Amino acid sequence: MAVAMSRTVAEQGGLRRVGMLVDGAWVDASAGGTIAIEAPGTRAAIASVPRGEAEDIDRAVKAAAAAFPAWSKVPPRERGRLLQKIADAVEGRVEELARIIAEETGNAIRTQARPEAKGSADILRYFGGLAGELKGETIPLGEHVLSYTRREPIGVVGAIIPWNAPVLLGCLKIAPALCAGNTLVLKAAEDAPLGVLWVATIANEFLPKGVLNVVTGYGEEAGAALSIHPGVRKLSFTGSTEVGKLIMRAAADHIVPVSLELGGKSPSIVYPDADENWAVDGIIAAMRFTRQSQSCTAGSRLFLHANIFDSFLAKLADKTQKLKIGDPLDETSDIGAIINAKQFNKVCGYVEEGMKQPGARMLFGGLPPKTGPLSQGYYAIPTVFADAANDWRLAREEIFGPVLVAIRWTEEVDAIAMANDSHYGLAAYVWTHDIGRALRAAHAIEAGWVQVNQGLGQSPGHSYGGVKQSGIGREFSLEGMLDSFTHRKNVTVNLGV
Ligand code: ADP
Repeated sequence: MAVAMSRTVAEQGGLRRVGMLVDGAWVDASAGGTIAIEAPGTRAAIASVPRGEAEDIDRAVKAAAAAFPAWSKVPPRERGRLLQKIADAVEGRVEELARIIAEETGNAIRTQARPEAKGSADILRYFGGLAGELKGETIPLGEHVLSYTRREPIGVVGAIIPWNAPVLLGCLKIAPALCAGNTLVLKAAEDAPLGVLWVATIANEFLPKGVLNVVTGYGEEAGAALSIHPGVRKLSFTGSTEVGKLIMRAAADHIVPVSLELGGKSPSIVYPDADENWAVDGIIAAMRFTRQSQSCTAGSRLFLHANIFDSFLAKLADKTQKLKIGDPLDETSDIGAIINAKQFNKVCGYVEEGMKQPGARMLFGGLPPKTGPLSQGYYAIPTVFADAANDWRLAREEIFGPVLVAIRWTEEVDAIAMANDSHYGLAAYVWTHDIGRALRAAHAIEAGWVQVNQGLGQSPGHSYGGVKQSGIGREFSLEGMLDSFTHRKNVTVNLGV
């Protein structure tokens, strides 16, 4: 039996214990298991969360199902107002949230964690403001027929999120799902659940019990149990393509709709006229070097025109090497630490492979230092391999770390063919002053999101998602909410009787 507890039971065995939110209460796992949360910047354990398993998921889904009838009938604008109140409360304490994110994810506070905390409040507010847009249509079937559609909530949503931008991605499930009238069981990532639980504490002050449940646990236990639970009516997953396939298979068993935001190996195509500093800054942003490149939209394949190959890379080396790697909580750090030992070793493995790859030229970077302050955490060094080929493993697989491959091209048609020669299709970047050329490329590239002359992150309002094995469905936008979190019901009335 789970024990009701306050959100935080301070200092048990030296570790801060944080509960998970089920049916409006903060609880332990039924079986009593816990997961220690490690700070990637120091490798120190900072807290523990419940190791939720199938029984806990079952209670959370049942709580969400019980809360659904009343919540779905709350007028949409009222639901939206509640989300906006949560947004205001989060924003009022944004600094606290930023520190939690920096500590648990290793993402540098100035460049990543604080913008993520602010962005999360923005997401809650944006969707809160869309409540009035849950509109249906009337269909002109003739004078004596009234045919209309309603946008109805689907029911209990089971959502699973990763650790790379955990709070933003959590709010991207919470806000549209709840605004549309669904109730939610959100499975936080085992590596970074604290920020999401913190947001849940605030949300719980405003929402009826059971509307939002946030569970913690391992993917194969809690995540898998959520994906196969018969009470879940919609699955929304953000994470690796590998696990996305498992989620889709699980969804098939109960024929539930599924949205998947998966991996990427996004191309950046630089034309010869863009051998300029602004484009270099853009490439650094697109590659997400300041998030240790732990981003599915990272522009990790750099296609440089042969005429500017060396000069562009020289500028890139100069600017990237000036970025400061260090303590995520230090305001002067540009780059923080990789999330955990497993990812860190994986990234180092790719660097080693590049160093041994015949024909590869390591322009800068390399393996992390084994001594000194950076060896205290999972700090990887931005690394660029020049003269890469598009068929190398380094150019095909999602590394999820700061390893960039630079590939030469001379004909536009070849650059686009290489860009499209990937099983992924999430994001892409095109760099040129020639707008006609830019748009030609943007239209030819197989990706859900193409940016021209900028490498920024997503913002509320634009439809975000991938094609091919990068996913199904869209997020971040009104259409994302409507398509992913509602279904259309048609009502047809014979007015002739
Ligand atoms: P990463 O390898 O980057 O952690 P994953 O796709 O493995 O990405 O993890 C993303 C989320 O999916 C996490 O919350 C994780 O716990 C969850 N997860 C992992 N494996 C499974 C699984 N078999 N079923 C359901 N969820 C899973």
